[in-house]
Amino acid sequence: MNQWLSTYPENSIVRKAYSFAEDAHRNVTRDSGEPYIIHPVAVAKLVHDWHLDESSIAAAFLHDVVEDSGHSLKEIEKQFGEEVAGIVNGLTKLKEFKYGENPDAENIRKLVLSFSKDLRVILVKLADRLHNMQTLTFKSTTKQKEIAWETVEIYAPIAYRLGMQKLSGELEDLAFPYLYPDEYRWLMDTVKEKYEEREVYAEKLKPVLRKMLEEVHIVPVSVDSRAKRYYSLYRKLLRNDMELEKIYDLVALRVIVTTVEECYATLGAIHKHWAPLPGKFKDYVAVPKPNGYRSLHTTVSTPGGKITEIQIRTKEMHEEAEFGIAAHWAYEQIKDSRAKKDSWGGVRNKKELLWVEQLRNWQKSFADQKDFLDSLKVDFFKERIFVVTPKNDVIDLPAGATPVDFAYHIHSEIGNQCVGARVNGKIVPIDYELHSGDLVEIMTQKGKKPSEDWLRFVKSSMAKKYLRSVTREKDRKIKKALPPQHIEFKIVNLDRPGYLKEITSVFADLKINIVFLNSQIDPRFTYSIVTVRCPAVQQEKVRKILVKVKSIPGTNEVSFKYIR
Ligand code: MN
Repeated sequence: MNQWLSTYPENSIVRKAYSFAEDAHRNVTRDSGEPYIIHPVAVAKLVHDWHLDESSIAAAFLHDVVEDSGHSLKEIEKQFGEEVAGIVNGLTKLKEFKYGENPDAENIRKLVLSFSKDLRVILVKLADRLHNMQTLTFKSTTKQKEIAWETVEIYAPIAYRLGMQKLSGELEDLAFPYLYPDEYRWLMDTVKEKYEEREVYAEKLKPVLRKMLEEVHIVPVSVDSRAKRYYSLYRKLLRNDMELEKIYDLVALRVIVTTVEECYATLGAIHKHWAPLPGKFKDYVAVPKPNGYRSLHTTVSTPGGKITEIQIRTKEMHEEAEFGIAAHWAYEQIKDSRAKKDSWGGVRNKKELLWVEQLRNWQKSFADQKDFLDSLKVDFFKERIFVVTPKNDVIDLPAGATPVDFAYHIHSEIGNQCVGARVNGKIVPIDYELHSGDLVEIMTQKGKKPSEDWLRFVKSSMAKKYLRSVTREKDRKIKKALPPQHIEFKIVNLDRPGYLKEITSVFADLKINIVFLNSQIDPRFTYSIVTVRCPAVQQEKVRKILVKVKSIPGTNEVSFKYIR
């Protein structure tokens, strides 16, 4: 048995999950010809190395069990509890999803994240993907390209977004040769010498840099050099006319210090001796990247007319940059290590201790444990859901959206003619609440008109917009069909005392009610305009009104219109 595995008690879910998986995958081999169990063990080991909790490790062991053997999710739930089953379920759902022919990467990233409301799902998935990429050579060329594409477009960006820079870069570098074999070979040939040359140069700079820090009494935790990853270098070259000379961070120096103050002091000390290049300094400590990355970056002129990039950060920032959100999960591990302090005390390496320290600080900001764990169950897209069309396109809708919202999203005519919907193959009412991952088909009927009633339940602004315009159109048509309700007279006159009274008595004499009366003076012409509105009366009466009003002294002009 693997050594790391033996650190878990025999009755732990980790050990039980291992036995279960071993049994379930018995007599099954991978494409490499090795026993299948190698894969879940490798994934579980990664998850263990990231210090995730026991439920995650157990789920890693079981992640291919439901799909590949006769075991059901129910069975897993019975044996390992709801939590493990929940993670396995998320992983199975992710596998079942097909990416379609013209996938929109950003939408799929969102879909993947929405399948993974419990972050542990995505972390185990990333471990699974890393191991699959490491063993990709055994797949067919078509499969290789497909998986490599997904890795670069979907999983590496997700890892990056979660702050796991190291993993993100690793995934990309593993995919690179499968995606762009010629470019990869070219880069390897071209860059190899450059790398070595730069590496030697960086080695020479290290003691000089240490000396600078000594002057300001800073003892760095470490000064080392890091080579740029191939895939990210390739992308940078594409932006820089493939000229390697324009890339200054081919090999960058990394200084790790103890405090934030020391970061800035280190920067000052470096700039004092090596002039910074204008516009190249970046303060990600004051303004972290959206994924939480913190560091100071500067590019300076170094001896011999060379240019070197230097990154400065604290050890906490460094751990976060390497492991991102996974670092925060290690909390569970601390809890365990307390119970097992004696047997574990000597085993932990320095890095693990660092993590413990970092996590203790992190944990302090949470009132109690439950808050802490809840905070890790990030709902990435609380307000959005992602559903799939029969053609496997991913549609992004507001939470609570219905088949009608979906239909209008596809096309206004599909929305207008929508008569029903099938969700995951089952017929549902059109006000059915959709959920992420649902496969939605709309049933239409030619000539069918949308119902005003739909406004009651639709959620998307697009559906609302169409439905309102349809309703407005209908209102207009109805009004047009109705007989006019009122007649409005406009009477231009010389405003004189008693005029208004004579006008109103014309209506009173004909036994017509006035429903609106207004008199306005036109300041320029000293004319007055009287507006009278009355119910729509017969033509004969209208004629009488006109004759009578015209005969009143002072009347200049009379006009009328029907109003609906
Ligand atoms: Mn797998």
